[in-house]
Amino acid sequence: MQVLAEISDLQLRVSEARQEGRQVVLVPTMGALHRGHLALIEQGRADPKAFLVVSIFVNPTQFGPGEDLAAYPRTLEADVANCETAGVELVFAPRPEVMYAADASTFVNVKQLDASLCGPFRPGHFEGVATVVTKLFNMVRPDRAIFGEKDFQQLQIIRRLVRDLNLSVEIVGAPTVREDDGLALSSRNTYLSASDRQQATSLYAALRMAADRVAAGEGDANLLVAAMREVLTQAGPVRIDYVQIVDRETLADVAVIDRPVQAAIAVHIGRTRLIDNLRLDPPQSSD
Ligand code: AMP
Repeated sequence: MQVLAEISDLQLRVSEARQEGRQVVLVPTMGALHRGHLALIEQGRADPKAFLVVSIFVNPTQFGPGEDLAAYPRTLEADVANCETAGVELVFAPRPEVMYAADASTFVNVKQLDASLCGPFRPGHFEGVATVVTKLFNMVRPDRAIFGEKDFQQLQIIRRLVRDLNLSVEIVGAPTVREDDGLALSSRNTYLSASDRQQATSLYAALRMAADRVAAGEGDANLLVAAMREVLTQAGPVRIDYVQIVDRETLADVAVIDRPVQAAIAVHIGRTRLIDNLRLDPPQSSD
């Protein structure tokens, strides 16, 4: 496995792999790798022709003022070891100066889809994500790229940007990996104190409750949002950014659940902002 930090080295190695008939698969990450990331890598490796590239880059443009850019966990040595064990062939870990010219003035905006859920709470976040992902796609030119459903809004925004800008990359969504008690794995879970960690199980508990009630025939989204908020507030002191039930394509709120929809939550527990989401399937619905 190679660890490269320069774009020209990356492009050379990837073009060699392509000439060997390999399928280039990209898994973009910000590092501090956990089993959620490793599941994405596993999924990429399922194709025997896959040449697996993992990018590790804590992207400054997707952090807002007052967010945790400086504190974000950076564990490159362990990440590289994990990638090697997982069968990754190339890690791309550039420095910010390599990724962004000091006078960079072109940014990618995916309108509408950033108007709900995390968008209003994190102005500029999805512009940073869409821009860095577009840049990585241009540098690597992957045949396929894998993203986690954990960040459902991000996944849908990337699908939309690929469609709208005619990028020739297949986007694959991978299921959320959870702890035994349901907490979605996240690099930010390391910020949680023991009591925060206990309380953090309320996100999945709220989502599961909604999924179970929808499966049993409840179709009133507003009632379910209120019930989810109740589960979150019962668990301890919490600042809720949002609890929403949205259309899976437009990410706009739905009132009546008559098709598969997505429930999504963002809360602050202690000093940590946590997000999670789950698909809600009404009885007899498929697709
Ligand atoms: P991050 O390093 O947090 O930017 O995440 C990199 C990729 O891993 C993104 O596509 C995330 O959606 C995905 N990811 C993060 N946590 C999980 C998880 N618990 N399960 C599945 N995928 C995840």
